[in-house]
Parts: sequence; C-alpha cells; structure tokens
Amino acid sequence: MNMILLGPPGAGKGTQAFFLVESYAIPQISTGDMLRAAVQAASPMGVKAKACMDAGELVSDDVVIGIVRERLQQADCDNGFILDGFPRTLPQADALQDVLKDLGKELEAVVSLRVDTDALVERLAGRRSCPQCGKGFHLKFDPPREDGTCSACGGELVQRDDDKEETIRKRMEVYHRQTAPLEDYYSQRGVLIAVDGMAEIQAVRAEIKAALQAG
Ligand code: AMP
Repeated sequence: MNMILLGPPGAGKGTQAFFLVESYAIPQISTGDMLRAAVQAASPMGVKAKACMDAGELVSDDVVIGIVRERLQQADCDNGFILDGFPRTLPQADALQDVLKDLGKELEAVVSLRVDTDALVERLAGRRSCPQCGKGFHLKFDPPREDGTCSACGGELVQRDDDKEETIRKRMEVYHRQTAPLEDYYSQRGVLIAVDGMAEIQAVRAEIKAALQAG
C-alpha cells in the first residue's frame, strides 16, 4: 500500500500511521520526525530547518523533497509506505509524482483527516512527550499518572517547541493556505479518501481500514 496521510497538525496522522504500520507492515515516513532528528543531530540541514520549524513555517521544498526521495528508495519501502506530513505544498506533490514514477511506484490512497481548528489547538497545546522513550501523552485526553513524568519510563515530559499556542495558530494558517489545496489535487486524481478526524481514535481507525479495503 503506497499512501499519504493528509491533515492539519494535530489531526491524528501520527496516531493513525501507527495502526497502519501494524496492519500493513510498511514504514511511516514522517518528514517532521526526520527534520527533528536532523535538528537534534545539529546537521547543517537541521540547523537551517530549525528556524522555520520554530516559527511554524515550512522548510523549503527542495530540502524535504530531497529527504523523501532518498527515503523512498530504501528497501523497507518495497511493499509500501505511509507518508505523514509530506507533501505539504503543490510543488511537493508534483515532485512526489516524479519520484514515484522514477521508482516505478504508484500512489494508491490519500487519506485526509478532517478536523475543526479550535479543537486542534486544544489537542496540540496539550501534547507532551517523553524524550527518553518517545511515548506521547495529552494533558486532558491521555494524562500521565504523575504530572510532568512519563508513566512508562519516569522520564521528564516535554512540549514540542512548535506546540506553543501562537506557533500552532501559525501552523494552521500555513496548512490552510499551502496544504489544503492538495485535497483537490488528489481528488482530481481519484485517490482521495476523506475521513472525519474528530471521531474517537478507534472509530477513525475503523473508517480508514474500511475505506482502504473498499478501494
Ligand atoms: P510535523 O511534525 O509534520 O507537524 O512537522 C513539523 C514541522 O516540520 C513543520 O511545521 C515544518 O516546519 C516542518 N515540515 C515537516 N514536513 C514538512 C514538509 N513536507 N514541508 C515543509 N516543512 C515540513
């Protein structure tokens, strides 16, 4: 299954990707995660990307297209992949078509998670994660047993720099301006599956599964 998960920040792409990775045994390719790893490693690309990420803006198309082109060539993508957070602009979508053509692959589904902006701000502003084991929490929807402490490993929970409310609003605005047009782009290509991302996690999961099986 070669697919994309589309949706604004906080729509639950990462959560649903986790289920899809299990069901299809294919990798999740998150450009956000790869960029954060580059920032962490303080690579030249990471240093450049950090300023854009902290401001809630997009990193340049060339950089992310390069990362994805390289990643899709790895052997674990032979049976499929889940792109999470890419493409985010029309030039990225066009570039992806070119990359897939070069690799002899075809895009099979684009699942778009639709959600309400105010609810998203609440979801994102409450997100916390453990830098030690990677587990995610939510202050309201999935709180840790003890404030500020990872229930799995005892690590100190942190908030992503770009999950601060002001940056979240900026990321939403960027999404609506630059990424939302991709729904039409993929609808015209007959691969768009729109899903109600406001439903319970398991209900969203079931809806995606049914739609992919029907397609
Ligand atoms: P995410 O974790 O997907 O929300 O991504 C976090 C940040 O990484 C975004 O706000 C952007 O600054 C950057 N980023 C991730 N994916 C892309 C992309 N496809 N194009 C441009 N910037 C991206």
